[in-house]
Amino acid sequence: MQRTPLVFLTILPLLLALDVQGDVRSEAVQVRLLPSATYPTAGKAFRGTFEISALTSGEISQLHLQGEGWSVDNLNAPDHYFASGTVPLQVQFQATPMFPEEPLILTLRFDGQEVISKLNLSKASLHSRIPSTALPPSGETNSPPLGPTSTRHITVHGRLAYQRNGVATIGAYGVSVTIYDEDITFDSVLGSGNTDSQGYYSIAFDWNDCLFCENPDIYVHFETDNSIVQVMSPLLLDYKWETGTTSDFTGTNLDKGTFYPSSDQGALHIFTNIVRAWHWLNDRGYTTPGVDVTWPSNVGGGAYYNPLTETIHLYDGEEWDEITAMHEFSHHWHNMFGTFSIPDYLDPHGGLFGHCMWCGENDLAAWEEGWADWLSDKMSRDLASPTCDDAENTAICSSSGPLTQCGSGGCPDGADNVKNYPYVTEGFVAALLRDIEDPGNELDVLSGGTLPDALSLNTAQILSVADQDAPTSISGFLSSFKARFPQYTNALWQTARNNSFEMDAVPPGAATQLHESTSTLLCISPGKGSTTFAWTRAADDWSGVDGYSILISTAEQLPDAVIDIGDVQDYSTSCLSSGDYVFNIRAHDRSGKWSTEFATLHFTARSSFYYTYTRRRHHFRGGLVFSLGGPDFPIQSEDRLLIEVFDVSGRLCRTFPDIPASPGEFTFEWDGMNDQGIKLPRGVYFARLSSALTGAHMTQRLVLVR
Ligand SMILES: [Zn+2]
Repeated sequence: MQRTPLVFLTILPLLLALDVQGDVRSEAVQVRLLPSATYPTAGKAFRGTFEISALTSGEISQLHLQGEGWSVDNLNAPDHYFASGTVPLQVQFQATPMFPEEPLILTLRFDGQEVISKLNLSKASLHSRIPSTALPPSGETNSPPLGPTSTRHITVHGRLAYQRNGVATIGAYGVSVTIYDEDITFDSVLGSGNTDSQGYYSIAFDWNDCLFCENPDIYVHFETDNSIVQVMSPLLLDYKWETGTTSDFTGTNLDKGTFYPSSDQGALHIFTNIVRAWHWLNDRGYTTPGVDVTWPSNVGGGAYYNPLTETIHLYDGEEWDEITAMHEFSHHWHNMFGTFSIPDYLDPHGGLFGHCMWCGENDLAAWEEGWADWLSDKMSRDLASPTCDDAENTAICSSSGPLTQCGSGGCPDGADNVKNYPYVTEGFVAALLRDIEDPGNELDVLSGGTLPDALSLNTAQILSVADQDAPTSISGFLSSFKARFPQYTNALWQTARNNSFEMDAVPPGAATQLHESTSTLLCISPGKGSTTFAWTRAADDWSGVDGYSILISTAEQLPDAVIDIGDVQDYSTSCLSSGDYVFNIRAHDRSGKWSTEFATLHFTARSSFYYTYTRRRHHFRGGLVFSLGGPDFPIQSEDRLLIEVFDVSGRLCRTFPDIPASPGEFTFEWDGMNDQGIKLPRGVYFARLSSALTGAHMTQRLVLVR
């Protein structure tokens, strides 16, 4: 996949008129800090090297390095440097920090455009680049070691919350909390932790009460940074807030109450949403590595995710749109677990469409955007319930996704155009992923089909295929899904078909294992016989066989394209005159394809044997007739009948087990053979019919005459 940021910039104006979803973009320049043997420490000069890589050729100029509390002693940078796109520029610097945890900010111009990059040199930050396993539980603290003198156990607790739309109060989730002791020279850290899902924190630490020591002057510092996400301003600085100071605190339990930041509340909402999304994925076994968010990032007209720097950019105004933050975070998950490339959004259909939910793009763009459209929609649906118990959180809970079924209100006017291109249209991809997962199994209008959605699997299979097989298109995803979960093949085909996808490309094969099965069904008409056949279901690539065409002929011949029987595995012929025949069977699949191969079997129809029997003193020729269902022989529909034939000495000659029962006249024919298939001699026999359910029986006498 070529990364072509300049192409993106030129097509962007074309897209503004459309319903633009959050997209993905590269930046022309990447900056990274080279590993160093030491970490910066306060008051000491630090030497380091950073490396600038340009993804395209261009001129680098006007390098400038600065940082809060840093004095930059030396920057060994050229005035102008022409980057060829292959050799990175290495720049050495020396700088002295007052607060090493503050980042250095590098600004430069690349072909005249300003590029800002943050270099994080603190131990904690370098550590947070390593994928974390989990957010520490709320209240976990980093207490200073116990001193030699008497200690006081102090707990500071409170809540960090913000207003959404001036109506709902929402607790900020996962925000880092540091308890400080204010001092004239340096404020020292007393303890730290994170807010819980409702914004509460409770942090305990030990205070050394020595004779001439002061009591602590306590304030709380909040920062939009944890191992999951870092929300930053355009200058790449964390958002930070501080409470007032409680001076000379002598107690052990300090309640700081609820703190409402007076500015930048949107940063807390973005932060909270991404932490919630992270936990949703973590609950499903995916511990997503950390991501940076820049907000407000007013470049390019809307939200996007940069997979190279693993950074989400949110536009001014998008901070309250939960689904947009989750959409971009879904791209990040995809980048971390699946295979993620920067798509160009040019459609392959003559440039009619651009980047939007229900317009044609291309395989890759439709897959990657459809993925993020679906996952963000699913997370927002799921995340609505647990916190909606809290009436305060109704606003965050009421967010509903843009993902509707195309054809029931979600499609643009050009629906007829896009329905021919489901594989390159992100709305179709998202709607299919939703149909695989959601409990509803409806018939979608636009598919034009008659088979409704057939799966309700939830998310485990979808996530594991995206993770383990890393497909780059919806057809790749469906093929991998089928290979990994073959038990769902037919239902997956049907669900995809309901969303306008047709994966079935190959006609079914022929039925296999075709053979004559033993039969108790004999023809009443003398001189005719019926044969029963059985087979193994014909194989099909996707949709599955739904019926067969049968032809009984005198030579092998392809049956016609008319379904005679459904998806069964046996068939009894009508009564055929005795002679040699061929049984031909051809399979049909649910996508409407006929097999070109067919199965055949040569067989001989044998005539019935003759015998007479008496009933009510009258002689008959042909089948025995039993009257079932009367008071003498009540039957129920689930009853099964057993017929046994005995000779005059009472020896059991023949058994016909497991005959379905139904009320009325029941006609039965016997071929005059015993269970071993040997013709019995002429003479008197008795046929006894019994009910398996009640044990009732009746007997008729018959004379085999041949
Ligand atoms: Zn997107």
